Amino acid sequence: MTEYRSENPFGVRPDGTEPFSAHAGATSSPPRATGTLESGLLLEAFDAQLFREQSETVVAKLEKHLADFSIRGLDLTDPAILVDAARALMTTEREQIAAFDENRLAAIVDLYIKTGIQVHSPGYMGRQFSGVVPLSGVIDFVSSVVNQPSSFYEAAQLPNVAEKIMAEELNAFIGWDPGSFAMVTTSGGSLANLTALLSARNRAFPGYWSEGGSALTGQLRPAIAVGDDVHYSVARAAGVLGIGDAQIVRLPLNERHQICVERARPVLDAAERRGLRVFCLVASAGTTPVGAFDPLDELAGLARERDLWLHVDGAHGASLLVSDELRHKLRGIEKVDSLTWDAHKMMFTPAPCTLLFYRNRENSLGAFRQQASYVFDEEPDIYTALDSGEKNFECTKRPMIMPLWALWAIHGRALFAQKIEYLCRLTGDVHRILEGEPDFETLHRPEANILCFRYRPPGLRDEDVHDFQVEIRNRIKFEGNFFISKVNVGEFAALRVVMMNHQVTSEHFRMLLGEIRRVGQDLLRQTHQSR
Ligand SMILES: *Cc1c(COP(=O)(O)O)cnc(C)c1O
Repeated sequence: MTEYRSENPFGVRPDGTEPFSAHAGATSSPPRATGTLESGLLLEAFDAQLFREQSETVVAKLEKHLADFSIRGLDLTDPAILVDAARALMTTEREQIAAFDENRLAAIVDLYIKTGIQVHSPGYMGRQFSGVVPLSGVIDFVSSVVNQPSSFYEAAQLPNVAEKIMAEELNAFIGWDPGSFAMVTTSGGSLANLTALLSARNRAFPGYWSEGGSALTGQLRPAIAVGDDVHYSVARAAGVLGIGDAQIVRLPLNERHQICVERARPVLDAAERRGLRVFCLVASAGTTPVGAFDPLDELAGLARERDLWLHVDGAHGASLLVSDELRHKLRGIEKVDSLTWDAHKMMFTPAPCTLLFYRNRENSLGAFRQQASYVFDEEPDIYTALDSGEKNFECTKRPMIMPLWALWAIHGRALFAQKIEYLCRLTGDVHRILEGEPDFETLHRPEANILCFRYRPPGLRDEDVHDFQVEIRNRIKFEGNFFISKVNVGEFAALRVVMMNHQVTSEHFRMLLGEIRRVGQDLLRQTHQSR
């Protein structure tokens, strides 16, 4: 230690303490500086004891944030004001490393928390990402510090093992042959959908990966079939694959907003007559607008009849599989070819954490086929057998499974099942409340935790219904007590709540209705006056 300090006169912090004092008595000494370091502040930025102090500052703020149950939505700030506020927090030092400034850190974290979407407040009912289980954030923090990119076993051993374990644990609810299915994690449901479609395309058109579109001469054009309410990421994935909008076959929905299997057949026949070869059918388990579950069992029959790959976009709703009460919504899941499952939605972990499952392991290798000898070993051994790099798009990938696995390891399945069941029950309760309110219009019976409705008080003209809902939603957002979303259901906009927070009760929902009425009545008065 002494020798080190004498060679490195810079290792002193602004408060006069020496950053490496914490190492006294430790078994290994800090690295010897070569004399090229310009400033001890570079060493300080990596100092372990300072790291703990910084973390404690931040954790105290997060504790306060998590303990704040006040009802609040979004504090929407003018971006120009926020840019100024953020700039004011930046060091003006250009030449030297600026010393750590605790006040700056505190102010950055305060601004970050305050301007964010308040997912932990009972006022938050608007979107599909959730207030995470705090412990999962703690594990994510570990991931950020140890920084183990997880596409390759040698870089991230425990994350790769945890993926294997979580795949087995969750497959218990899917029901595939444990020896032949596969799972890969990927950065978000959108990328998972793209990856699955790519694998489906490569299976149906084996020459495509090497020859590109020219492999198709003389063949029918590749096409996919989707329910009319499919998530936009699927249309984007098609675009990325060179499947034009005109090659996306939209299947009609029934009155429960599910793909109508009977009406799907003639639509698929008509597509074939137009020169399309539909190779993949995308079903949704929890559609984004209303949370509807397509009838997987029947669709699996249709897919078998026509040799279609059946992909299920369960980004939102696959998590219902872990609940004994709700699993039946995905009846037939064991017959599908692939499944997208976002843990950062209904498993309450930090984003992104998406699991892409394949019934057949070989298909998991079918999405990407290039050789890259610097990472992919031709002869897998026990270590490289766990690599996921061949199956996912990312090269450097977050060890996103760790927060999920740690929650599962420490609390078990019931943590997830109980929260999901509460949220779905709550959504059913608030639907019943709405049915008793004559000035509100209900639009569907909730299948999960998403509910759409409209405020239609007497005096509202039919031609104003759409704009009225949009304007109510915006005003509620700007008032900042509740955060809800809007979506078109049929021809007109509807108000949409997504129950992701178990601290929300039906009392909070009644308060929301009160606010909608007040805002809506103001709006009606204004339009009558201006008319
Ligand atoms: C959220 C969602 C997606 C997109 O997933 P990301 O993880 O946000 O990329 C896709 N499909 C459905 C049904 C979704 O709810």
